[in-house]
Amino acid sequence: MSTLNQIIVLLFCLVFLNLSYAQNGKDKTINPIVVIDPGHGGKDAGATTRNGIKEKDIALGIASKIVVLNNTLFKDPLMLFLTRYTDTLISLGDRTQLAKKLKADIFISIHCNQAINRTASGTEVFIHPKSEVQAEESAYLGFTIQKGLADLLGIKDRGIKYGNFQVLRDNDYSNATILLELGFLSQTDEAIYLTKEESQNAVALVVFKSIIEFLEL
Ligand SMILES: [Zn+2]
Repeated sequence: MSTLNQIIVLLFCLVFLNLSYAQNGKDKTINPIVVIDPGHGGKDAGATTRNGIKEKDIALGIASKIVVLNNTLFKDPLMLFLTRYTDTLISLGDRTQLAKKLKADIFISIHCNQAINRTASGTEVFIHPKSEVQAEESAYLGFTIQKGLADLLGIKDRGIKYGNFQVLRDNDYSNATILLELGFLSQTDEAIYLTKEESQNAVALVVFKSIIEFLEL
């Protein structure tokens, strides 16, 4: 997608969000609590692109941009927390403990994928539900985000899968709990896309917009 197209998408999203948020105007005393977990950190770099860009930095970059969107552009519709704000390694247990302590409504762990097959591309959402409600809510949140990324940014949707990841397995507190793989760093086009600042802004906006849509704010 060209930079011009990305700017058009961003403008479209901004107008859409402003309108839908203003029209609804629900007066909630407590905003929904959302925990975003940028995967890896510190000595755990996660996957890397061929030119050495690390998954931990892409995940933190996108998560930080979601915080900026929430705080500055949209006046805090979400009570949003990250499990890490810097390049540090947080234990998997502490990541889910934060969601538990905050009684988070939504928990999203952000990652990028890697595969031996260098042509593999697209987003994947993993869930590990503990209840029928968590299964339905998690799948619907994942579906909403993947649909947004596919429709607005043209990122292939590889579907929702069952994944036995500790951050999902240990989280029975949040209604919607997903691990989001945003694309493959082993695939050249997606690696280039995900490392660009403007692409990260576009992805952050689509994820943020999808959370707002999911919560019917
Ligand atoms: Zn990862």
